[in-house]
Amino acid sequence: MQQRPYNFSAGPAAIPEEVLREAAAEMLDWHGSGMSVMEMSHRGKEFISICERAEADLRELLAVPADYRILFMQGGGLGENAIVPLNLSRGGTVDFVVTGSWSQKSFKEAARYCSTHLAAGNAAGQHTTLPDPAGWQLSAKASYLHICSNETIHGVEFQALPDLQALGSDTPLVIDCSSHVASRPIDWSRVALAFAGAQKNLGPAGLTLVIVREDLLGHALPICPSAFDYKTVADHGSMFNTPPTYAIYIAGLTFQWLRRQREGELAGVAAMEQRNRAKAELLYGFIDGSQFYENKVAPDCRSRMNVPFFLRDESRNEAFLAGARARGLLQLKGHKSVGGMRASIYNAMPLAGVQALVAYMREFEQSHA
Ligand code: PMP
Repeated sequence: MQQRPYNFSAGPAAIPEEVLREAAAEMLDWHGSGMSVMEMSHRGKEFISICERAEADLRELLAVPADYRILFMQGGGLGENAIVPLNLSRGGTVDFVVTGSWSQKSFKEAARYCSTHLAAGNAAGQHTTLPDPAGWQLSAKASYLHICSNETIHGVEFQALPDLQALGSDTPLVIDCSSHVASRPIDWSRVALAFAGAQKNLGPAGLTLVIVREDLLGHALPICPSAFDYKTVADHGSMFNTPPTYAIYIAGLTFQWLRRQREGELAGVAAMEQRNRAKAELLYGFIDGSQFYENKVAPDCRSRMNVPFFLRDESRNEAFLAGARARGLLQLKGHKSVGGMRASIYNAMPLAGVQALVAYMREFEQSHA
């Protein structure tokens, strides 16, 4: 079988080849039903079985506690920037820690629905570090605190989620984990709500995952659209209105793929975490050892998923990208707000893909240094 190119897109991003092949094989007739999944009623027994299995597999993969509800929604990460305050702010103040473009957008959007307070940020260091939680200026009674646990554009990742209880606060923590969900375990003792667009680590665009502690349901502001009221969505098993059925199906195949992954004794998300650590160490190690490339993020805050890097001589950027494309290394151009390059190395990127990238980077350096 021919090797597909390695796709380093930040999202929509690579999907495991096994998943794409399964979906292709089942495209015209899912399990003898005579229907494509796209053609099924979301209320029929076939799709209900797909959706229930996806939810159960995800609950197991992420060890989601029984008192948290899993919601399959639409609207994306930016939709959640409005939907979270509409559901959780209760007319009070919301705290934000702004560590890059995505938490900045969340902070700005929430101000349309509630009063907001900047508890900490890293703008002074151009979003290359993370502020120590011990120094966060928490409001006395915030409805919740929002962080982006992995900033996709700036490439900073919380290696441990903040323990607000240890800081003497019982404020619920909300995490936008769009770009590293399922790449590592989530410590639910620290998290009240996690949301993620699916299009990086879970499947196709169109599905937004929300995992929320049950006691936070039922407090939506009156202006919250019914289809975005978490309690309404939860009460209807994510079927208050038509859910993104095909995206849920592909995410479900991805969850099955994740459950099959092994690294030694480790399985599922723990296996992925080990593999992701090895991939990131290889790439950062090479960049740090080179005079030709540079990553500007503080080592203890570096994202394992999104690796922004720069050629010290930026006049070579176009040649670098053209050479990469010619070798089947796709979508390495950095985000326009940061420039340079970005390699997104989500779960679906095998170690061999990172090895191929490093080999190319070494070769390019040798021929241009
Ligand atoms: N949050 C994060 C961390 C993201 O990376 C993105 C998308 N790149 C978003 C939110 C926005 O997601 P969407 O485009 O699905 O609204």
